[in-house]
Amino acid sequence: MLGVMSKPWKKLDEAVLIAPGEKAILKKRDTVGEELFPDRDEAEASLAADVKEIDKLQDQLWAERTRALLVVLQGIDTSGKDGTVRGVFGCCGPLGVTVTPFGVPSSEEAAHDYLWRIHNAVPKRGMIGVFNRSHYEDVLVVKVRKFAPPEAIEQRYGQINDFEEYLTDNGVTILKFMLHLSKDEQRKRLEDRLEQPKHNWKFNPGDLEDRKLWSDYEKAYETMLERCSTEHAPWRVIPADKKWKRNAIIASIVRGALERMDPKYPKPSWKPSDFKIE
Ligand code: ATP
Repeated sequence: MLGVMSKPWKKLDEAVLIAPGEKAILKKRDTVGEELFPDRDEAEASLAADVKEIDKLQDQLWAERTRALLVVLQGIDTSGKDGTVRGVFGCCGPLGVTVTPFGVPSSEEAAHDYLWRIHNAVPKRGMIGVFNRSHYEDVLVVKVRKFAPPEAIEQRYGQINDFEEYLTDNGVTILKFMLHLSKDEQRKRLEDRLEQPKHNWKFNPGDLEDRKLWSDYEKAYETMLERCSTEHAPWRVIPADKKWKRNAIIASIVRGALERMDPKYPKPSWKPSDFKIE
């Protein structure tokens, strides 16, 4: 059974990874993740162990200060991007993690090329940076809502791959997660926002407009997955209908990536015995 095994992320990866060039048919991909972490208690135990380890590894990453980890979260409204940030990175020391949400570009941002605001938010060496939405909005909402000419959008897939390769070559490991939610589960989550007074603030009538464009978004996501899953920065499609499972899967993969990065505390050039504190 998956869960608190020594390296569960290896098996998880087989289920969620989009191989470079692979056609991603979202309707055929599970939004529940039946096979992954079948037991909720086990998933929660695994998550608790992983977030502790992520925090520890982040400390080493910061001490080493030569590389960074960038986690990209994409998903339709209510897919759980905020919940993932809270559930997976909420226990990390606040000095080591930056979270950047990308909304509608400001006038300053819109005056630059679309990657300008993105590059500016890439985590510096030693940090974990989480993008809540990202440069991928520029081939998703921008494509579906026709905010840019199709020829410009067409060029972006290659530009994004080059940009991500450049970052990877410069010491930034990139993990990209698409939170894959069913239309039914989105309905439930939107209804909850209308029915629960303390969740009313989360309701945005604009989300209903995007819901009407569900199949256009699905197509745009599929193209993004097929064209931008690369050796250096592959996409992972995460079943997102169950929040506890989503967090356990993502934490396990993040921990695995940090373990493979294997950050080390630097060895000082001096000996502690060289000093005496009066
Ligand atoms: P979320 O739905 O991510 O929790 P939110 O509802 O609080 O966030 P904001 O973070 O203010 O809203 O903005 C998200 C909105 O910004 C989304 O509708 C998204 O499609 C839109 N957006 C993001 N990037 C772009 C872009 N490059 N061009 C146009 N719209 C964009």
